[in-house]
Amino acid sequence: MPPQRSQTRSTQAVRSNRRQVSHRPVQFFTLMLLLGLALLGVSIALHFRPGVGPAQPAPEERPVPSFQPLLLPPAFTPTPNGDLVIRRYAPSSNAVASKPAQARSLQTYTVVEGDTVFGIALKFGLRPETILWSNYDVLKDNFDLIRVGQQFIIPPEDGMVIEVEQGDTIEGIARRYQIKPERIVEEPINGLRDINQPLQIGQVLFLPGGQRETVVWQVPKPVEVRRTARGVRVYRVGRCGEVAIPPLGSGSFIYPAKRQYLSGYDFGRYHPGLDFAGRLGEPIYASDGGTVIYAGYSLNAAGVPVGYGQYVVLDHGNGYQTLYAHASQLYVSCGQQVAQGAVIAAIGSVGRSTGPHLHFEIRYQGVAVNPWTLLPPRRR
Ligand SMILES: [Zn+2]
Repeated sequence: MPPQRSQTRSTQAVRSNRRQVSHRPVQFFTLMLLLGLALLGVSIALHFRPGVGPAQPAPEERPVPSFQPLLLPPAFTPTPNGDLVIRRYAPSSNAVASKPAQARSLQTYTVVEGDTVFGIALKFGLRPETILWSNYDVLKDNFDLIRVGQQFIIPPEDGMVIEVEQGDTIEGIARRYQIKPERIVEEPINGLRDINQPLQIGQVLFLPGGQRETVVWQVPKPVEVRRTARGVRVYRVGRCGEVAIPPLGSGSFIYPAKRQYLSGYDFGRYHPGLDFAGRLGEPIYASDGGTVIYAGYSLNAAGVPVGYGQYVVLDHGNGYQTLYAHASQLYVSCGQQVAQGAVIAAIGSVGRSTGPHLHFEIRYQGVAVNPWTLLPPRRR
């Protein structure tokens, strides 16, 4: 009977349509996932390409839907966050990205499930580094330390939000973060009158266009898993897996590079190490005897290189760890034991501001120590 057949056909059509429809979200999701990952790759390549200035994403990239969450469980427990430090300005909380016409101010954004630093940056039309650099107290320069409930400071444009430290001047800050001092004074958020105005410790400043090296310490406190027959402790540390860490450190440190002067940033609140001058390929020395607990690229949880480029971390078995970053070549690998002064890597160039240099850190029980307090007096 024609009507029935037609009905059957149409039912089939509806069913088949439904099937297609039900597949569509999956296809859409997959497409978005691929698109998101591809764009993320491009964005990271642009942002972290050595020696290349900050790249603005092309306008057509902006409206693409949110990136897929990159929040995989961290490979290891990150160093504990410092306390949230958000003060001395009146934040308008629960900021909404779609209100750019609001008065120029610092806003706060509370992290929700599924957020990534990249996604939040995209939402506010900012570069990921702007979020990272403006929230050092929370993120410690590590994209992977984002957690639900954290409050991020969101500046109105790219740059960075900092807190004034002891001895800071407007000119000094401008030099350090590569902007003109006038821009700091003219920024309405800062409420400054002139360039010589004294700053207060803890005062919050927004530095439009400010930039600095991104540093990421991803090496956790090792977890002891067992001891060898000889009583050497074996730890599980990050991506090196289980590593025996005998006490090889002498507790005194030597300069990790030939040149004992800086070409980049000094030790400070937003830079937990020293940037020693160096030429491409010059040796990097083990500052003390130790065991390699990390040797490789600095990767985020999604496996994308960030921050330090290539680096080595030594554990000296006495509470101290040292880190050597931006290497062009690594000469050691996980678990290897090295003597003080051994050449462990070659100086390289990652980071847009200082060219080839060695970013060097010393940590004691996981806390960054000013290396100048542990290194011997400089050679004259
Ligand atoms: Zn550095």
